Amino acid sequence: MATTLKQVPPRIFRSEEELAELPASERIRWRLVQAGQRYHANDNIAAHVREGELTELKAEVQAKLQEVLQALVIDTESDHNTNETAKRVAKMYVEEVFRGRYQPMPAVTEFPNVERLNELMIVGPITVRSACSHHMCPIFGKVWIGILPNEHSNLIGLSKYARIADWIMSRPQIQEEAVTMLANELQDRVRPDCLAIVMEADHFCMHWRGVKDTDSAMVNSVMRGAFLKDANLRREFLSLLSRKNG
Ligand SMILES: [Zn+2]
Repeated sequence: MATTLKQVPPRIFRSEEELAELPASERIRWRLVQAGQRYHANDNIAAHVREGELTELKAEVQAKLQEVLQALVIDTESDHNTNETAKRVAKMYVEEVFRGRYQPMPAVTEFPNVERLNELMIVGPITVRSACSHHMCPIFGKVWIGILPNEHSNLIGLSKYARIADWIMSRPQIQEEAVTMLANELQDRVRPDCLAIVMEADHFCMHWRGVKDTDSAMVNSVMRGAFLKDANLRREFLSLLSRKNG
């Protein structure tokens, strides 16, 4: 029988002083648990991180990565190549490749649809980088967004689609969940009549390890509103997309 690791319920702290004695990751986790907020790999937890704590987090991650290198029996003292590896990787995780967990949503201005645009609009290909939550291996891909606004929709600048996509992808992700998260975010902001998202990506856990299959790419799509019911609209979107793809 598989062993289930039960999370120990956090001790109730009485004072901020007690909380301040904990490592930053424990403090942040405590706030998340108190707020009943999920903190899976692809969740954004920015609202629970206080000023200065990301610097503390980086130092914590660095110390743990140093232990990983030690456990891998790598001599990080004499090997000049790995001297600073723990530090570099910690910075890369917290500030770059996983920053979509720790940074708030990028500012996006929404404009009312004064021209009452109601034509199918396609944005893409947007280049996206992510990492799979299973192996922490890179994912490189492209995203296409199809949107059919109505007179009540909010419009956002073209470059903002890329910024929102980047924010969602810069987390350890699962491609199926990433496209759904992106769809939900755009649905909430733009409120279009229908929305379609296609993502095609290379998963390096397929190339670098496992079956070492170098040709496999994964394609996922989310279709909402009229895209679900209207085969012509769906076809129009997919044909525009293949033309753009060259
Ligand atoms: Zn993987």
